[in-house]
Amino acid sequence: MFKPIEQEFKVSYRYTLHSTKGLFDLENELFKSIIQEYKKNSRVKLLFVIDDGVANAHTDLLKNIESYCEKYSYNLSHIKNIVVKGGEQSKNSDGSVDKILKAINENAICRHSFVVVIGGGAVIDMVGYAAAIAHRGVKLIRIPTTVLSQNDSAVGVKNSINAFGKKNFLGTFAPPYSIINDSEFLNTLEQRDWIAGIAEALKVALIKDLDFFVYLEKHAEKLRERDYETMQYTIYKCAEIHMQHIAHGGDPFESGSSRPLDFGHWAAHKLEHLTDYSLRHGEAVAKGIVLDVTYAHLIGLITENELKRIVRVFEAIGFDLRFPVESETEMNRLLNGIEEFREHLGGQLTITLISGIGTKHDVHEIDNYLMKRALQSVNDTTNLKVNQRANH
Ligand code: NAD
Repeated sequence: MFKPIEQEFKVSYRYTLHSTKGLFDLENELFKSIIQEYKKNSRVKLLFVIDDGVANAHTDLLKNIESYCEKYSYNLSHIKNIVVKGGEQSKNSDGSVDKILKAINENAICRHSFVVVIGGGAVIDMVGYAAAIAHRGVKLIRIPTTVLSQNDSAVGVKNSINAFGKKNFLGTFAPPYSIINDSEFLNTLEQRDWIAGIAEALKVALIKDLDFFVYLEKHAEKLRERDYETMQYTIYKCAEIHMQHIAHGGDPFESGSSRPLDFGHWAAHKLEHLTDYSLRHGEAVAKGIVLDVTYAHLIGLITENELKRIVRVFEAIGFDLRFPVESETEMNRLLNGIEEFREHLGGQLTITLISGIGTKHDVHEIDNYLMKRALQSVNDTTNLKVNQRANH
């Protein structure tokens, strides 16, 4: 008998989030310098994939990318611009991934080339997935264009599409080469997309950073009114907390069962599916967080004052917190999201709640009766009536 052969090695990852304004202005050397850092003296092939919501709102973008690559053509080899349908539908069909894979194949994009994706979180997830499976991993530069993608979804390590009626069922853990946030893209966002991404900032503040929560509380009106500086700080701080958690939280590729950054997400993911993705991810996350903090109050983890304070901030920013779920059947369907969430992460059920503003608290079981009470409470009134503690 041969003895077992032990195998062990470590791979370290390093990537940078850059912030800029007017990324493809000819004088802006950031993009060129990122490629130059990778390869100084030769031309690097670049396949651009662009969300159609962005292309329609920024009508000069495709032309500007071409002119920019032309100016720095000693380093940048512009292969093609591909425009794809934006929004969640890009994650719901295999067609989108096939389109990217086909372009990677037909244009001989190799592991020394780059796919550059410009768009909202959905397109970034989908293109990231395609890039990760082509040749077992083509390099990816993400240029996120929504608040949610700039402060959360594009700064992490996950790529995915939906399948079998389940959110993010297919996917990879594959860190990007780098991420570039260009604040100018945000000017053309619909108000709902401007607001939706703030849910993820409130999420990290609630589980990790009381001071950041206080900042968001103080600046809620400014955020709602699209104050530029306030939004820039909110995005930067939120992205930083996400990135620090991924690097130092001890589980970047989620092999454990605890997933604090998914606070409020069991209900959000289920709700997105139940509403046929008519809700934005951030809108669903806001509802999911408020449901879970209401539950946290009902089981005695946070005070009524804390609960009211949290709800007030969400409302002041402009979130609609009610769930489009009323009948017993609909409630039960939503609650199935708890088991699906466990199944997605594997292992023991772990739902992150809070035991105070800024402090996360994991629980391993959910009382369905109390969760339904929490849901009714959120729906009865957005000024939550949760005066009586449960005596269930
Ligand atoms: P989205 O990608 O669905 O975009 C919303 C809409 O905005 C789309 O119609 C899009 O075309 C349009 N759009 C994008 N940028 C625009 C701009 N600058 N101007 C005008 N219109 C623009 O929404 P999102 O909130 O950015 O992303 C949500 C997705 O992110 C979900 O699929 C969610 O699952 C995913 N996500 C992924 C992670 C991760 O770790 N990978 C984390 C959180 C969320």
